Amino acid sequence: MEPLIQVQDLVKVYSLGEVEVHALRSISVSVDRGEFVAIMGASGSGKSTFMNILGFLDRPTSGQYLLEGINGENLSRDESAEIRNRKIGFIFQGFNLLSRTSAIENVELPLIYAGTPPPQRKERAQKALFEVGLKGREHHHPSQLSGGEQQRVAIARALVNEPSILLADEPTGNLDSKTSEEIIGIFQRLNQDLGITIMMITHEPDIASFAKRDILFRDGNIVGDRVNVSPVTLARGRE
Ligand code: ADP
Ligand code: MG
Repeated sequence: MEPLIQVQDLVKVYSLGEVEVHALRSISVSVDRGEFVAIMGASGSGKSTFMNILGFLDRPTSGQYLLEGINGENLSRDESAEIRNRKIGFIFQGFNLLSRTSAIENVELPLIYAGTPPPQRKERAQKALFEVGLKGREHHHPSQLSGGEQQRVAIARALVNEPSILLADEPTGNLDSKTSEEIIGIFQRLNQDLGITIMMITHEPDIASFAKRDILFRDGNIVGDRVNVSPVTLARGRE
Protein backbone atom coordinates (compact mmCIF):
# COMPACT_ATOMS: atom_id res chain seq x y z
CA MET A 1 0.00 0.00 0.00
CA GLU A 2 1.25 3.51 -0.77
CA PRO A 3 2.36 5.62 2.19
CA LEU A 4 -0.15 8.09 3.62
CA ILE A 5 2.36 10.91 3.24
CA GLN A 6 5.16 11.08 0.68
CA VAL A 7 7.46 14.08 0.68
CA GLN A 8 10.36 14.47 -1.74
CA ASP A 9 12.97 17.25 -1.77
CA LEU A 10 10.62 19.74 -0.18
CA VAL A 11 11.99 23.29 -0.06
CA LYS A 12 10.41 26.40 1.44
CA VAL A 13 12.01 29.80 1.07
CA TYR A 14 10.37 32.89 2.52
CA SER A 15 11.38 36.11 0.81
CA LEU A 16 11.31 39.17 3.02
CA GLY A 17 12.43 41.98 0.73
CA GLU A 18 16.15 41.41 0.20
CA VAL A 19 16.35 38.62 2.73
CA GLU A 20 15.59 35.01 1.99
CA VAL A 21 14.81 32.62 4.82
CA HIS A 22 15.42 28.98 3.96
CA ALA A 23 12.84 27.48 6.29
CA LEU A 24 13.02 24.02 4.66
CA ARG A 25 16.16 23.08 2.74
CA SER A 26 15.42 19.63 1.35
CA ILE A 27 13.02 17.40 3.22
CA SER A 28 12.25 13.85 2.10
CA VAL A 29 10.22 11.53 4.27
CA SER A 30 7.28 9.17 4.17
CA VAL A 31 4.71 8.27 6.80
CA ASP A 32 2.44 5.23 6.78
CA ARG A 33 -1.11 4.88 8.06
CA GLY A 34 -1.25 4.18 11.77
CA GLU A 35 1.99 5.90 12.71
CA PHE A 36 2.36 8.24 15.68
CA VAL A 37 5.25 10.57 14.90
CA ALA A 38 6.80 13.23 17.11
CA ILE A 39 8.54 16.07 15.29
CA MET A 40 11.27 17.58 17.40
CA GLY A 41 13.79 20.36 16.91
CA ALA A 42 14.80 23.78 18.18
CA SER A 43 12.66 26.84 17.63
CA GLY A 44 13.03 28.10 14.06
CA SER A 45 14.15 24.73 12.67
CA GLY A 46 11.19 24.54 10.24
CA LYS A 47 8.73 22.28 12.08
CA SER A 48 5.65 24.49 11.73
CA THR A 49 6.50 25.35 8.13
CA PHE A 50 6.65 21.64 7.37
CA MET A 51 3.37 20.91 9.13
CA ASN A 52 1.58 23.78 7.41
CA ILE A 53 2.60 22.32 4.06
CA LEU A 54 1.46 18.85 5.14
CA GLY A 55 -1.87 20.38 6.10
CA PHE A 56 -2.35 22.22 2.79
CA LEU A 57 -2.21 25.53 4.66
CA ASP A 58 0.87 26.57 2.72
CA ARG A 59 2.66 25.53 -0.46
CA PRO A 60 6.28 24.55 -0.89
CA THR A 61 8.70 26.60 -3.01
CA SER A 62 9.73 23.35 -4.72
CA GLY A 63 9.57 19.61 -4.21
CA GLN A 64 6.72 17.17 -4.08
CA TYR A 65 4.14 16.31 -1.47
CA LEU A 66 1.51 13.60 -1.83
CA LEU A 67 -1.25 12.91 0.69
CA GLU A 68 -2.92 9.59 -0.09
CA GLY A 69 -1.44 9.94 -3.55
CA ILE A 70 -3.01 13.39 -4.06
CA ASN A 71 -0.60 16.08 -5.22
CA GLY A 72 -1.59 19.47 -3.86
CA GLU A 73 0.42 21.37 -6.44
CA ASN A 74 -2.28 21.94 -9.03
CA LEU A 75 -5.27 22.24 -6.73
CA SER A 76 -7.32 25.42 -6.58
CA ARG A 77 -7.84 27.15 -3.24
CA ASP A 78 -11.29 25.60 -2.93
CA GLU A 79 -9.99 22.13 -3.70
CA SER A 80 -7.21 22.47 -1.10
CA ALA A 81 -9.75 23.71 1.44
CA GLU A 82 -11.93 20.70 0.77
CA ILE A 83 -9.07 18.25 1.23
CA ARG A 84 -8.09 20.06 4.40
CA ASN A 85 -11.60 19.77 5.76
CA ARG A 86 -12.10 16.13 4.79
CA LYS A 87 -8.71 14.56 5.36
CA ILE A 88 -6.85 16.63 7.94
CA GLY A 89 -7.52 17.45 11.58
CA PHE A 90 -5.48 20.30 13.08
CA ILE A 91 -4.64 20.90 16.70
CA PHE A 92 -2.71 24.01 17.73
CA GLN A 93 -0.92 25.19 20.85
CA GLY A 94 -3.47 27.97 21.42
CA PHE A 95 -6.53 25.68 20.89
CA ASN A 96 -8.00 28.11 18.28
CA LEU A 97 -11.61 27.72 19.41
CA LEU A 98 -14.31 30.28 18.64
CA SER A 99 -14.77 32.00 21.98
CA ARG A 100 -18.46 32.94 21.83
CA THR A 101 -19.49 29.50 20.75
CA SER A 102 -20.24 26.39 22.81
CA ALA A 103 -18.03 23.32 22.79
CA ILE A 104 -20.47 21.35 20.66
CA GLU A 105 -20.88 24.18 18.16
CA ASN A 106 -17.09 24.42 17.84
CA VAL A 107 -16.94 20.71 17.09
CA GLU A 108 -19.79 20.97 14.57
CA LEU A 109 -17.98 23.58 12.45
CA PRO A 110 -16.09 21.19 10.14
CA LEU A 111 -19.36 19.33 9.58
CA ILE A 112 -21.11 22.56 8.61
CA TYR A 113 -18.38 23.17 6.00
CA ALA A 114 -18.82 19.60 4.81
CA GLY A 115 -22.57 20.06 4.42
CA THR A 116 -23.59 17.42 6.96
CA PRO A 117 -27.30 17.75 7.88
CA PRO A 118 -28.00 19.19 11.39
CA PRO A 119 -29.31 16.05 13.15
CA GLN A 120 -26.24 14.03 12.13
CA ARG A 121 -24.04 16.97 12.96
CA LYS A 122 -25.19 17.07 16.56
CA GLU A 123 -24.87 13.34 16.95
CA ARG A 124 -21.36 13.16 15.54
CA ALA A 125 -20.14 16.22 17.47
CA GLN A 126 -21.51 14.71 20.67
CA LYS A 127 -19.81 11.41 19.95
CA ALA A 128 -16.48 13.18 19.33
CA LEU A 129 -16.83 15.06 22.63
CA PHE A 130 -17.55 11.80 24.47
CA GLU A 131 -14.48 10.31 22.79
CA VAL A 132 -12.25 12.92 24.45
CA GLY A 133 -13.95 12.66 27.84
CA LEU A 134 -16.10 15.79 27.70
CA LYS A 135 -19.54 14.33 28.29
CA GLY A 136 -21.65 16.94 30.07
CA ARG A 137 -19.54 19.89 28.85
CA GLU A 138 -21.23 20.28 25.45
CA HIS A 139 -22.77 23.65 26.19
CA HIS A 140 -19.83 25.26 27.97
CA HIS A 141 -18.07 28.09 26.20
CA PRO A 142 -14.26 28.07 25.97
CA SER A 143 -13.94 30.61 28.82
CA GLN A 144 -15.83 28.17 31.06
CA LEU A 145 -13.37 25.36 30.36
CA SER A 146 -9.82 24.71 31.59
CA GLY A 147 -6.92 24.73 29.13
CA GLY A 148 -6.88 20.94 29.01
CA GLU A 149 -10.63 20.83 28.37
CA GLN A 150 -10.31 23.43 25.62
CA GLN A 151 -7.64 21.32 23.97
CA ARG A 152 -9.96 18.31 24.23
CA VAL A 153 -12.64 20.29 22.39
CA ALA A 154 -10.05 21.10 19.72
CA ILE A 155 -9.18 17.40 19.44
CA ALA A 156 -12.87 16.52 19.11
CA ARG A 157 -13.21 19.15 16.37
CA ALA A 158 -10.17 17.70 14.61
CA LEU A 159 -11.62 14.19 14.82
CA VAL A 160 -15.22 14.81 13.88
CA ASN A 161 -14.74 14.48 10.12
CA GLU A 162 -12.85 11.21 10.54
CA PRO A 163 -9.72 12.63 8.92
CA SER A 164 -6.85 10.56 7.48
CA ILE A 165 -4.39 12.30 9.77
CA LEU A 166 -4.21 14.49 12.86
CA LEU A 167 -1.58 17.24 12.73
CA ALA A 168 -0.76 18.80 16.09
CA ASP A 169 1.60 21.78 16.47
CA GLU A 170 2.89 21.93 20.07
CA PRO A 171 -0.48 20.72 21.44
CA THR A 172 0.77 20.69 25.03
CA GLY A 173 2.77 23.92 24.79
CA ASN A 174 0.27 25.90 26.89
CA LEU A 175 -0.51 23.16 29.40
CA ASP A 176 0.98 22.08 32.73
CA SER A 177 2.69 18.70 32.86
CA LYS A 178 -0.21 16.73 34.34
CA THR A 179 -2.66 18.11 31.78
CA SER A 180 -0.11 17.54 29.02
CA GLU A 181 0.00 13.89 30.00
CA GLU A 182 -3.78 13.66 29.83
CA ILE A 183 -3.78 15.12 26.34
CA ILE A 184 -1.00 12.83 25.20
CA GLY A 185 -2.96 9.90 26.67
CA ILE A 186 -5.86 10.81 24.39
CA PHE A 187 -3.55 10.88 21.36
CA GLN A 188 -2.12 7.52 22.32
CA ARG A 189 -5.56 5.97 22.67
CA LEU A 190 -6.76 7.43 19.35
CA ASN A 191 -3.67 6.00 17.70
CA GLN A 192 -3.69 2.59 19.37
CA ASP A 193 -7.40 1.85 19.58
CA LEU A 194 -8.74 3.67 16.53
CA GLY A 195 -5.63 3.49 14.33
CA ILE A 196 -5.60 7.24 13.71
CA THR A 197 -2.35 8.54 12.21
CA ILE A 198 -0.84 11.40 14.23
CA MET A 199 2.02 13.80 13.59
CA MET A 200 2.79 15.97 16.57
CA ILE A 201 5.32 18.75 16.94
CA THR A 202 6.83 19.10 20.39
CA HIS A 203 10.08 20.35 21.81
CA GLU A 204 9.63 18.36 25.00
CA PRO A 205 11.43 14.98 25.01
CA ASP A 206 8.99 13.75 27.70
CA ILE A 207 6.08 14.30 25.36
CA ALA A 208 7.91 12.82 22.37
CA SER A 209 8.58 9.64 24.36
CA PHE A 210 4.91 8.68 23.94
CA ALA A 211 5.20 8.57 20.16
CA LYS A 212 6.25 5.55 18.09
CA ARG A 213 8.75 7.43 15.91
CA ASP A 214 10.63 10.66 16.21
CA ILE A 215 11.94 12.92 13.53
CA LEU A 216 14.43 15.63 14.38
CA PHE A 217 14.64 18.93 12.49
CA ARG A 218 17.65 21.21 12.45
CA ASP A 219 18.02 24.32 10.28
CA GLY A 220 15.42 23.19 7.77
CA ASN A 221 16.76 19.64 7.42
CA ILE A 222 15.80 16.31 8.93
CA VAL A 223 18.85 15.21 10.91
CA GLY A 224 17.34 12.26 12.78
CA ASP A 225 14.53 9.78 12.19
CA ARG A 226 14.17 6.79 14.46
CA VAL A 227 11.64 4.29 15.68
CA ASN A 228 10.87 4.48 19.37
CA VAL A 229 10.92 0.79 20.24
CA SER A 230 9.26 1.22 23.60
CA PRO A 231 7.00 4.27 23.76
CA VAL A 232 5.85 5.24 27.23
CA THR A 233 2.29 4.02 27.70
CA LEU A 234 -0.13 5.64 30.08
CA ALA A 235 -2.13 3.37 32.35
CA ARG A 236 -5.69 2.87 31.15
CA GLY A 237 -8.39 4.93 32.79
CA ARG A 238 -6.06 7.66 33.96
CA GLU A 239 -7.16 10.28 31.51
P1 ADP B 1 9.62 26.10 14.13
O1 ADP B 1 8.18 25.74 14.04
O2 ADP B 1 10.53 24.91 14.10
O3 ADP B 1 9.90 26.97 15.31
P2 ADP B 1 9.12 27.67 11.73
O4 ADP B 1 8.76 26.69 10.70
O5 ADP B 1 8.03 28.45 12.35
O6 ADP B 1 10.02 26.95 12.83
O7 ADP B 1 10.15 28.69 11.10
C1 ADP B 1 11.28 28.30 10.33
C2 ADP B 1 12.00 29.55 9.83
O8 ADP B 1 11.19 30.22 8.88
C3 ADP B 1 12.29 30.56 10.92
O9 ADP B 1 13.53 31.16 10.64
C4 ADP B 1 11.16 31.56 10.78
O10 ADP B 1 11.55 32.82 11.23
C5 ADP B 1 10.88 31.54 9.31
N1 ADP B 1 9.48 31.81 8.98
C6 ADP B 1 8.41 31.09 9.37
N2 ADP B 1 7.24 31.58 8.87
C7 ADP B 1 7.61 32.67 8.13
C8 ADP B 1 6.88 33.62 7.33
N3 ADP B 1 5.56 33.56 7.21
N4 ADP B 1 7.60 34.60 6.73
C9 ADP B 1 8.93 34.65 6.85
N5 ADP B 1 9.69 33.79 7.56
C10 ADP B 1 9.04 32.81 8.20
MG1 MG C 1 6.60 26.20 15.34
